[in-house]
Amino acid sequence: MIPHTERHGVLRYTEIMCGIIGYSSIEEKKPVEGILLDGLRSMEYRGYDSWGVAIATKKGVFIEKKIGPISQLNSKPIDSFSLGIGHTRWATHGGVTKTNAHPHLSSDDRFVVVQNGIVENFIELKTKLQTLGYAFKTQTDTEVIVHLIHLELQYGKKNLHDAVRSTFLQLSGRNTFVVMDRETKTIMAIRQGSPLVVGRSPNSVMLASDTLPLLGKMPEVIFIDDNQLVEIHAAKIAIYDAKTGKKILFEAKPLTQKVEKIDKAGFDHFMIKEIYEQEHTIIDATSYSEVELLPAVKKIKKARHVYTLGAGTAAFAAGHIARFLREINIFTQELRAYEAASYLSLIDKRDIVLVVSQSGETADTLEVVEFLKKKKVTIISIVNMIGSTLSRLSDLSYLSRTGPEICVASTKAYTAQIAWGYLLAQSIIGNYQQAKKQIQDVSNKLHHYFQTKQNQQVLKKLAKKLVTAEHFFVLGKEQHFYSALEAALKIKEITYKHIEGFSAGELKHGVIALIEKGSYIFGVVGGEESKRNETLNALAEVKARGAIVVGIASEPSDFFDIHIAVPDGKELDSITKIIPFQLLAYYLALNLKNNPDKPRSLAKSVTVK
Ligand code: GLU
Repeated sequence: MIPHTERHGVLRYTEIMCGIIGYSSIEEKKPVEGILLDGLRSMEYRGYDSWGVAIATKKGVFIEKKIGPISQLNSKPIDSFSLGIGHTRWATHGGVTKTNAHPHLSSDDRFVVVQNGIVENFIELKTKLQTLGYAFKTQTDTEVIVHLIHLELQYGKKNLHDAVRSTFLQLSGRNTFVVMDRETKTIMAIRQGSPLVVGRSPNSVMLASDTLPLLGKMPEVIFIDDNQLVEIHAAKIAIYDAKTGKKILFEAKPLTQKVEKIDKAGFDHFMIKEIYEQEHTIIDATSYSEVELLPAVKKIKKARHVYTLGAGTAAFAAGHIARFLREINIFTQELRAYEAASYLSLIDKRDIVLVVSQSGETADTLEVVEFLKKKKVTIISIVNMIGSTLSRLSDLSYLSRTGPEICVASTKAYTAQIAWGYLLAQSIIGNYQQAKKQIQDVSNKLHHYFQTKQNQQVLKKLAKKLVTAEHFFVLGKEQHFYSALEAALKIKEITYKHIEGFSAGELKHGVIALIEKGSYIFGVVGGEESKRNETLNALAEVKARGAIVVGIASEPSDFFDIHIAVPDGKELDSITKIIPFQLLAYYLALNLKNNPDKPRSLAKSVTVK
């Protein structure tokens, strides 16, 4: 368990992935199981070890739980009310078992609970509850919430609203949880740390961890903030301050997000679909007009220093963006959120922090942003998910507009954010139009690349050879330093092979000692001629030591044993050159019989600290 601590005066995030869904309708006997399952399916990327639904019925609470991906129910609830909740789990406390899967039922069969987060004082609470005679059926921390609510109802003689509130006040950690009460036909939810949105239509209400389940079903959305309690009865919504109990006026916003069909569109996996989408998504991400970019341009021009911030793949996209800004003579330092601590005292309101995230919910990143906001630092963000916490915390928020990225390993969000960063940087120096042309040119090149079957064949052949390879390395320079890091991450994430990315310049400082006959070395060769030559020289050096050199390059070279020909993306070469690595990771994962969409132990938007 990750302890809940204070650092830089802000709470450390212990937010956990997982998807929460709830649905309530005024239509009597509306079958809700399909709605709950569809909702869970669209949030499966948030956690996928087990799942469950609970539906209120005349006779009691119908519950079904399963291990593995969201599938179908084995039985149908009989005489159900139009009220249910569901959960897809990313286990933190207690193994992945049916018993530990949510929802968890109260000992009097009255209500059920699903939770996203960690009850950090759960041992203490559990001991107290056990002393009071509560028997624990699961190993989850969630079960303390169930018993505490029960205790408050029984002995505190409170109504459900007050029981839920006082339970919440006893929990430490970041916990968003939902309670469905069969008796009062009510759903209550409290947000703390993990996201929660509520969709509203004239006849029904849906709550979820993100907006995806709401699309096409709910015309309006309400973004719930931390420490707010939502009470849903039929299609009525009330929101309260969970600490004071005071009613809060809220505003529902039209949910304008395009209805995205979360399907594989004929592809075998989301990953390959998302890889192919990149020829369009780099265009969509840069469909901002000059006027729309102007507020960011102005702020960056005025800033003392610019920092970019991200975690994982987003940190590498942030690295590319920092480089684009440095290239136009703007002092920009890239920060990885998990290593940003020592910079935080140096950043103040004269600076700009440009934050990159796919989900906008990444815990490490949010922690830094919350801290900097208290110092009045201007936050500009580029996020893929609409309505995310990060977008809402930002002074200026842009969307990368790629549509939902379902595969856990990021592909299209990465390239979209690079393209957006490039357009922004070029707009600062008045090159908006040329930059747009350049992005269009890269898109055309990608189209051609994807259409040419030969390109996939070369990679498939290579992926076969790599099945038995134990270690490999990727090297690159300048923009391709970040490409090397991202390439290695992509391959690690879904193939579980040991691969390291490093700067070509680092070779002689140690890495070369690892190279032996038959080692696979990938070189990402691109950019200015001098940089290309540096990378080629490094490749020559490893080749001389018996390595098998794979060149990811627009031009062939004698140093390559295998040449993976990729179009020259010029300033955006980091977009074109990452594509073969994404494809290679995918094909290699398939050869290794891994599910590329759902790599082991990972979940999208790494929100665990
Ligand atoms: N801590 C809870 C559990 O392990 C919730 C995890 C989640 O957010 O999926 O069951």
